[in-house]
Amino acid sequence: MNKRRRIYEGKAKVLYEGPEPGTLIQHFKDDATAFNAQKKAVIDGKGVLNNRISEYVFMRLGEIGVPTHFIKRINMREQLIREVEIIPLEVVIRNVAAGSLATRLGLEEGMQLPRSIVEFYYKADALQDPLVSEEHITAFGWATPAEIDEVMQLALRINDFLVGLFLGIGIRLVDFKVEFGRLYDQDGQVRIVLADEISPDCCRLWDVHTNEKMDKDRFRKDLGGMLEAYQEVARRLGVLTETRPPKGTGPILVANNPVGSGKPN
Ligand code: 5GP
Repeated sequence: MNKRRRIYEGKAKVLYEGPEPGTLIQHFKDDATAFNAQKKAVIDGKGVLNNRISEYVFMRLGEIGVPTHFIKRINMREQLIREVEIIPLEVVIRNVAAGSLATRLGLEEGMQLPRSIVEFYYKADALQDPLVSEEHITAFGWATPAEIDEVMQLALRINDFLVGLFLGIGIRLVDFKVEFGRLYDQDGQVRIVLADEISPDCCRLWDVHTNEKMDKDRFRKDLGGMLEAYQEVARRLGVLTETRPPKGTGPILVANNPVGSGKPN
């Protein structure tokens, strides 16, 4: 059915060749994986929700001047993006102690951190994405000192904006992971841009009143109700209606963001 050239397949997304040079199509799958893909499931409708949520977040970030790879959403599961050279780092920004930070430093989960903390993990599945320092990054040439500075600044700016955006809909942004890429323009200039996705798959999102988890930890910790939690995030962001779809048909989308309205960055 799909004759497009597949460039890359990850755990939750596929990248296809785009319609024009320098573009790609980012396809969101329903696959859920955790613990370096040791745990796997297919969650019907997850890809559709992540596509919409990530589109919304990238558009809002684009509007405040954060450069991103996002061009426009094409359909329920796909977006058109600019091809970038991915910096091989997972950049994690934390506001509240949870997950691996809480475990590593023996912190109580839910403790507000004294300030937002940025961490770098080297993207290497075989090594389970180890935590690395700026020394490792520059010594091994994964990014230059200037690029690290740029990434740090962008990460903190994205965090400040998203903390407010989620708080406005009753959600605490505990932590999240982002990836950045190098965008080469016509005259050989390089710009660092936000790439990949921002969705409940790569964020910890807790309801401010109940502390209920509304993210992939529902899957990691076998809490159930993952799709419903993602739907609730989408509903609060205003990208889904609250109509109850008949079982198995998935979420119903609202046409409040017509296809093609995405702001190119
Ligand atoms: P932790 O280091 O506590 O496991 O994760 C910190 C944050 O980054 C969490 O919000 C988590 O969802 C996200 N994160 C870290 N590594 C990955 C990854 O490989 N894939 C995804 N989707 N999210 C990640």
